Amino acid sequence: MAPIPGSGLAKGLAVTLRTMTKKTVTAQYPDAQPELPPRTRGVIGLFEENCTVCMLCARECPDWCIYIDSHKETVPPAAPGGRERSRNVLDRFAIDFSLCMYCGICIEVCPFDALFWSPEFEYAETDIHELTHERDKLREWMWTVPAPPALDPAAEEPKELAAARKTAEKLAAEATASAEASEPAEQPAQAQPPAQAQPPAQAQAPAQAEPPATGTSEPAKPSESAKPSEPAKPSDPQDGES
Ligand code: SF4
Ligand code: SF4
Repeated sequence: MAPIPGSGLAKGLAVTLRTMTKKTVTAQYPDAQPELPPRTRGVIGLFEENCTVCMLCARECPDWCIYIDSHKETVPPAAPGGRERSRNVLDRFAIDFSLCMYCGICIEVCPFDALFWSPEFEYAETDIHELTHERDKLREWMWTVPAPPALDPAAEEPKELAAARKTAEKLAAEATASAEASEPAEQPAQAQPPAQAQPPAQAQAPAQAEPPATGTSEPAKPSESAKPSEPAKPSDPQDGES
């Protein structure tokens, strides 16, 4: 069926009129901050404690914008007679965000969960060199990484959590067992307090209350010699003058 002449124009005008009456959705950034999804790919944070310098992220990055330097360190044996071990120590970890295309491959391939997306995006610089974020700056981004979403109730427990829970349960069981084992030893010690509680001063009290040698219940009269002597009269001042 042939189109009606002028129908395209009418359709276009209808769209224009409909759009003109709608409220604008343009956000006036930076006065108005955008409401971004929590998993927005803003910047990459490094949790360097997890990094083993395996170099997988640097090798897989399609833009070659991850720079890692490290050296080897010898670790003494854990037990006498054991073998020394060597481990990689991270010296430098940097990402050049002027080259990064935010593909997320580095985060996906990291086997030790050392890299994370942060939704922060306000790190524009006037100098391109400043867009190479070194280790300290990448670590600061870590604190802006949102917490992972809650697990589905029917999901299998992650093996790290299962291992931590088993260890905590084992330690709690050991603590309970040791507390129960020490209880019988404490009970005899609790039975002794009555004897220990008797103050020695009270036991000696009757002996102290006994009257001295006289053998009578009357209190001994104070002897003449025990009488307090009269205070000496002050000498006449005139005596001294004569
Ligand atoms: S997001 Fe992609 S381009 Fe950016 S550093 Fe990671 S692997 Fe490289
Ligand atoms: S892949 Fe992960 S553990 Fe390996 S060097 Fe990169 S950040 Fe470190």
